[in-house]
Amino acid sequence: NPASPILQLSEAKVAYGQIEAVKGISLELFPGELVSLIGANGAGKTTTLNAVAGTLQLSAGSLRYLGEPIGALPAHKRLRAGIALVPEGRGIFTRLTVEENLRMGAYTRKDRAEIEADLQRVYDLLPRVKERLAQVAGTLSGGEQQMVAIGRALLSRPKLLLLDEPSMGLAPLIVEKIFEVIHTVMKQGVTVLLVEQNANLALGYSNRAYVMESGKITLTGSGQDLLHDPKVRSAYLGEV
Ligand code: ATP
Repeated sequence: NPASPILQLSEAKVAYGQIEAVKGISLELFPGELVSLIGANGAGKTTTLNAVAGTLQLSAGSLRYLGEPIGALPAHKRLRAGIALVPEGRGIFTRLTVEENLRMGAYTRKDRAEIEADLQRVYDLLPRVKERLAQVAGTLSGGEQQMVAIGRALLSRPKLLLLDEPSMGLAPLIVEKIFEVIHTVMKQGVTVLLVEQNANLALGYSNRAYVMESGKITLTGSGQDLLHDPKVRSAYLGEV
């Protein structure tokens, strides 16, 4: 790849006290890619995303974003620099309206006209959300809440969007819609790092993927190659 990476983790470790959850992983994302991180429960995927977003710190190794070391930056500064996280469970403000939730995503910004333009773009991307702007977010379906969470993250104008299990707990039809939205966001130029249990769907949409097992990366390749890899099929796609 001729471009330089937007994100680069080298020999990165993350620990919770004595427990090392991420045990020295190296991965890189290039601008415009959709890359997924798949693997079983407890493999360290969420921990990795949180270390990139800055809600957790590395205990060893390095993290570079746009060529710069950012391991020492607090999460809000990473957000301002263009790294947005849609957390596991979505982190919606349930008592605020949909529109208030979306506007929260722009809280670090002062460019009012651009914020309004970005809101319109999010409405175009998410017509179901647009229909429900005045609704209290806690009364939305899980799928709609996931859409709001993605829309809110886009209001920060990310260069790198981190998505943690966007399909969690949702019906297959709405999951498919959410993946179409993620794909559109990538097509619009946002680099995406996606953590997913639904390996089948994630690999189908991803340019590349990394497989994590017990805190390590054990396999990497294109989405299509991994989708057809016998080890991946037996371990993560429920085949014998
Ligand atoms: P899941 O899909 O279940 O979130 P995951 O691959 O994202 O799985 P992590 O959530 O990153 O895995 O967890 C990796 C390891 O770190 C697990 O062994 C988990 O028990 C441990 N862990 C996660 N959070 C904490 C915490 N706050 N304190 C201690 N250990 C933790």
